[in-house]
Amino acid sequence: MSDKSYDLVVIGGGPGGYVAAIRAAQLGLKVACVEKRATLGGTCLNIGCIPSKALLQASEKYEEAAHALASFGVKTGKVSLDLNGMMTHKDKVVEANVKGVEFLFKKNKIDWLKGSGQVTGKNEVTIDGKEKIQAKNIVIATGSTHVDLPGVKVDEKQIVSSTGALELGSVPKTMVVIGGGYIGLEMGSVWQRLGTQVTVVEYLDRLVPGMDAEVAKTFQQVLKKQGMAFKLGTKVTAAKQAKSGVTLTVEPAKGGAAEQIKAEIVLVAIGRRPYVDGLGLDSVGVELDDRGRIKTDAHWRTNVESIYAIGDVIAGPMLAHKAEEEGVALAEMLAGGPGHVNYETVPGIVYTWPEVASVGKTEEQLKEAGVKYRSGKFPFAANGRARAMNATDGFVKILADERTDRVLGAHIIGPDAGSLIHELVMAMEFGGSAEDVARAFHGHPTLNEAVKEAALAVHKRPLHM
Ligand code: FAD
Repeated sequence: MSDKSYDLVVIGGGPGGYVAAIRAAQLGLKVACVEKRATLGGTCLNIGCIPSKALLQASEKYEEAAHALASFGVKTGKVSLDLNGMMTHKDKVVEANVKGVEFLFKKNKIDWLKGSGQVTGKNEVTIDGKEKIQAKNIVIATGSTHVDLPGVKVDEKQIVSSTGALELGSVPKTMVVIGGGYIGLEMGSVWQRLGTQVTVVEYLDRLVPGMDAEVAKTFQQVLKKQGMAFKLGTKVTAAKQAKSGVTLTVEPAKGGAAEQIKAEIVLVAIGRRPYVDGLGLDSVGVELDDRGRIKTDAHWRTNVESIYAIGDVIAGPMLAHKAEEEGVALAEMLAGGPGHVNYETVPGIVYTWPEVASVGKTEEQLKEAGVKYRSGKFPFAANGRARAMNATDGFVKILADERTDRVLGAHIIGPDAGSLIHELVMAMEFGGSAEDVARAFHGHPTLNEAVKEAALAVHKRPLHM
């Protein structure tokens, strides 16, 4: 038995949990973070955002050297792939990041309590069923895990989740990605660039559900041009494994004749579910919603007064930056200040090439809500910097309120869309209008000029189109 007691005990050391711990410690609270993984950083740093981006970056370099540099007048010798080297790069990036969080914990005097945390009282967390810790407040930040598809059992060898897809030992000849969301498309892109023939099977009749439909359509066309194949409106009903690979049975989602597709590797990427396994929430009466997420009020408080929850384990987009902002705001609130997150401006980014990025409302959402809006669009084909980069696929689209001109949403497919979108996140954060964006200086020649031109296009006065 231990008589350790803290102002705040955070369960889960991912972006939500570790950021909440750091911010609370900065504000003078005595903080501990319980994490059962061998390293801090959660899904994001260990098996999510960071390793996937390390492989996307590396495979992009390979693709560039193998196919794209010649168009810039750069001659290379025969380019070959060192997959081990690429995986080493990924592992080093992950290690540097997780060690970085460990350093930040030491710097901020946060105790990392290693083991599995269980909530055993309103103010008590038990670690690995043994050590009891007292806490004035408890924050649950236990994240999410992949969703299984009935009949397609993940073994992380032939049938993999995103975690297995991050560590394949060789480049498969063929891969079926089940699920056309951002994780499937990012991981599919990695292996496609390294030489795999990738087929994406998606239940809906479009990719990246939730993102702007016009962007999704262009996205599919661009990925198709790169060699990716698609079977939309299709469901997978069974998988049969053999030494040579997996045979999937698929059929039209709306019903119809079944067919079979073979692949060396199958990646199941149909979504993620909140992870509350082993937390013992029942024993203290913390309520879940109908989708298994921890129910909270607008300030992340559960139905139990001293217990809060943030990140993937509660409602909202399952994104690292959403978890982090909740962590910061909640820590500030627990330290006696105000805490606020503006959910209207959470950007969503797909880190393929070209990238896809989105913030705020889509046209479909505005139409459904009956909001009158103006749309301005500008293609990268008309942007000088994009031409210099040989990266002219895609466009910027800005949606502004018809009456007030306030920016309501922005959707970009194109080079570095994930960076460009932040200009519009800031505009929205400050309640800016399309006119504000259009009149602000934009350095020349930059990709950002496409953002300025799209803002000008909202008022039908683009200069370069
Ligand atoms: P997590 O990061 O899941 O952390 C939860 C932690 O809690 C885990 O480390 C777990 O071990 C620990 N834990 C769980 N239960 C217990 C317990 N009882 N006791 C102790 N510890 C426990 N998001 C982006 O924003 N950008 C991206 O580019 C991106 N790419 C992704 C790529 C992939 C392949 C995947 C899978 C996800 C990606 N995400 C991305 C999503 C992102 O990883 C999550 O949104 C984010 O990690 C959520 O943070 P969190 O703190 O809520 O939970």
